[in-house]
Amino acid sequence: MAKRRISQKTISEIGITRINRLLDLSVEAVRQGRNDRARRYVGLARRIGMKTRTTMPKDRKYCKECFLPMVPGVNCTVRLTGHRVSMKCTECGAVGRTPYLKEQRT
Ligand SMILES: [Zn+2]
Repeated sequence: MAKRRISQKTISEIGITRINRLLDLSVEAVRQGRNDRARRYVGLARRIGMKTRTTMPKDRKYCKECFLPMVPGVNCTVRLTGHRVSMKCTECGAVGRTPYLKEQRT
């Protein structure tokens, strides 16, 4: 059987829907206290992202050290430091910082 070629656009679209689904599942797993599952879901989502060559959605935060999704009030603390939003993972202590200067100016 001939191999069917699909366009890069379709591949990325499939990738994005699968990544979003997996990240939803991982957030749910964190809420239920099942961190091992949550890590696995994030890992799978990352692999799909690499395979389908799509970047992970920016509004979904996960810890860069232990690959747990960051759920404020459950496993991370959110603080405003200077011109940055710092999110600290309470599982491993890693801090992720994102600037919000653009929002401050408006
Ligand atoms: Zn962490």
